[in-house]
Amino acid sequence: MTTSPSPREIVVIGAGIVGMACASFIRRAGHRVTVLDRGAPGEGTSFGNAGCLNSSSVVPISMPGVLAQVPRWLLDPEGPLVLRWRYLPVLAPWLWRFVRAGAPEKVAAQARALRALLGSTIESYAPLVKAAGAEDLVHRLGHLTVYKSEASFAKDARAMDLRRANGVAVDDLRAGWWTDPARGGARLRIRRRRGDRRARRERRPPCRSRRPRCRRLVEGSGETTR
Ligand SMILES: Cc1cc2nc3c(=O)[nH]c(=O)nc-3n(C[C@H](O)[C@H](O)[C@H](O)COP(=O)(O)OP(=O)(O)OC[C@H]3O[C@@H](n4cnc5c(N)ncnc54)[C@H](O)[C@@H]3O)c2cc1C
Repeated sequence: MTTSPSPREIVVIGAGIVGMACASFIRRAGHRVTVLDRGAPGEGTSFGNAGCLNSSSVVPISMPGVLAQVPRWLLDPEGPLVLRWRYLPVLAPWLWRFVRAGAPEKVAAQARALRALLGSTIESYAPLVKAAGAEDLVHRLGHLTVYKSEASFAKDARAMDLRRANGVAVDDLRAGWWTDPARGGARLRIRRRRGDRRARRERRPPCRSRRPRCRRLVEGSGETTR
């Protein structure tokens, strides 16, 4: 972002990750910024997510064959889809567009677009993470996808192909090797040892409150108003 010659007063509504990141970069561009939120910073969706800074999330939600899965999802009480039948007439046009978005050629284009947006995720976050004093919370560990069965692994082949086609390094751990991003992409042999996971969990530093770190992103530059 380039520095503007004439500083302006800018208001950002919403103190989640999107609003705070915008506010921080607006401030860096030399403007005054006020963040408005009905609650405390970082307590909306940004509070309860999985915490992945994931540049490999190039697989769209709607994929080929999504329609065939709908009946099973609806019957499964823990499935990813819940439908209020009375709302169906309102929802139907959107659902139809959602299903059509899963056509193979559309999926390929969406994956390319997602990769262009997300490819530099970690680098883009770096100045924000530094400003929030949160570097200790970022671990470059890669992204692990676990399958319950060979069948579910095979079902996901298209998604894996999409990732590979868009420059995401994918290792099949059953092959016994892993490319470690934390060691400059070194190829490591995988050995399973009991207790490894527990030891790793114990070494990890406790996660401190996000609220002060969210505030720190724009502290000294704008105001956070409740
Ligand atoms: C279960 C789950 C897991 C996820 N995991 C990941 C992940 O691992 N990695 C990832 O990148 N993304 C993940 N996401 C997505 C990610 O969490 C969201 O995309 C992101 O947090 C959205 O940020 P936001 O700032 O837009 O919204 P929010 O964090 O919800 O912030 C919006 C803010 O706006 C405020 N607001 C809303 N309306 C008003 C109003 N009228 N006036 C004033 N304030 C208002 C709210 O109070 C809130 O504080 C996950 C999402 C979910 C649900």
